Amino acid sequence: MDFLRQVFDIRFQYNVYFTTNLFDEKNNVFRSFLHEGKRGGSVKKILFVLDNGVVQHHPTLVQQIKNYFSSESDMRLVEEVIILPGGEVTKNSPEYFEQILTAVNEHGIDRHSFLVAIGGGSVLDVAGYAAAVAHRGIRHIRIPTTVLSQNDSGVGVKNGINYFNKKNFLGTFTPPVAVFNDSNFLTTLSDGEWRSGISEAIKVALIKDAEFFSWLEANAENMAKRDMNAMQYQIKRCAELHLQHIAGADPFESGSSRPLDFGHWSAHKLEQLSNFSIRHGEAVAIGIALDTVYSFFSGRLKESAMKRVLRLLKHLGFPLTDRLLEIRDERSPLLQGLNEFREHLGGRLTIMLLKDIGAGEEVHEMDPTLVRKASEWIKEYSLAKA
Ligand code: NAD
Repeated sequence: MDFLRQVFDIRFQYNVYFTTNLFDEKNNVFRSFLHEGKRGGSVKKILFVLDNGVVQHHPTLVQQIKNYFSSESDMRLVEEVIILPGGEVTKNSPEYFEQILTAVNEHGIDRHSFLVAIGGGSVLDVAGYAAAVAHRGIRHIRIPTTVLSQNDSGVGVKNGINYFNKKNFLGTFTPPVAVFNDSNFLTTLSDGEWRSGISEAIKVALIKDAEFFSWLEANAENMAKRDMNAMQYQIKRCAELHLQHIAGADPFESGSSRPLDFGHWSAHKLEQLSNFSIRHGEAVAIGIALDTVYSFFSGRLKESAMKRVLRLLKHLGFPLTDRLLEIRDERSPLLQGLNEFREHLGGRLTIMLLKDIGAGEEVHEMDPTLVRKASEWIKEYSLAKA
């Protein structure tokens, strides 16, 4: 056998900073990060991509960013600030991805420049994808502005856009160079957006941290009342658990095991069936309810634990099911979703279920009869408690 072997490792490292009013002139957190990597020589360009939902609620943000950089001599802010529509619409068509690429090209953004995205998970996903593929990778900074993106998507390593009407069909695994979580952005979220991301904290607590789950139960009321301290704790712990998981296991998901996708197989299908009118976090809550009840019906999880999960979801105001997930026969969309998830993983189905609060268990098959039973049971339960 004649061959040459190539082996090398690349080390990734980035900080997730927690701050308030990031672009206040007196706040040096962002500035210090930019200066840390300074090696002298060329002036670095910095291109901003903003979520229109954020701009609408923070009308002085663009001017604040301009003021923040006005006295910088070794950073040049690109005058054009790209503003994309917020929400899933920005991932559904390549138009917005191409808009960023055009700006990268026209403003000469290179691998030594920074592309900074401020927004919810959708804008961060499209900007992260553009940054990852343009010039084979421009340094990318994320500033997540929703609960979901501060505690999950914004701190991780994935990006992407939807294609062929399929979630995240195009995308890469590319870590950012830094993440800045600014709590001030959260104050302008609608109640639905504020709540939506908590489902990702419930998800990670259920598979990894029983104590955090108990904390979420004890603080559900405070979070529902928009207590910022409770929300900040929730975000930091959730982000920490996600970071630990990514660093410890399989950061670029080369295996078919996806523990952090607990509750997501049906959530992705539901988002698609609803034409993305159901929020990702709400779809995840519904997916968690389904897989939790399935875990009970398949003999893994105690009834008392299953009911704790449903009670917490309800307490926070999440719907537990949706009529789009009703199963009438074996061609029902929900069951198709299971097959699509298998395809997405590359052939071998791997689904995370629960054997206890804080302890997951992976399976490679799901019994369609039990999926149906679980789905019908949740419908009855929701109606009974309504
Ligand atoms: P979102 O990005 O879709 O935003 C929801 C809405 O909130 C939009 O209208 C947006 O304009 C608005 N908004 C954002 N910040 C605001 C603020 N501070 N004040 C007022 N309005 C604001 O919602 P999301 O839940 O953050 O992200 C969902 C997306 O994240 C989905 O596409 C999902 O697939 C993706 N996601 C990605 C990963 C990953 O690892 N890359 C993980 C989980 C989820």
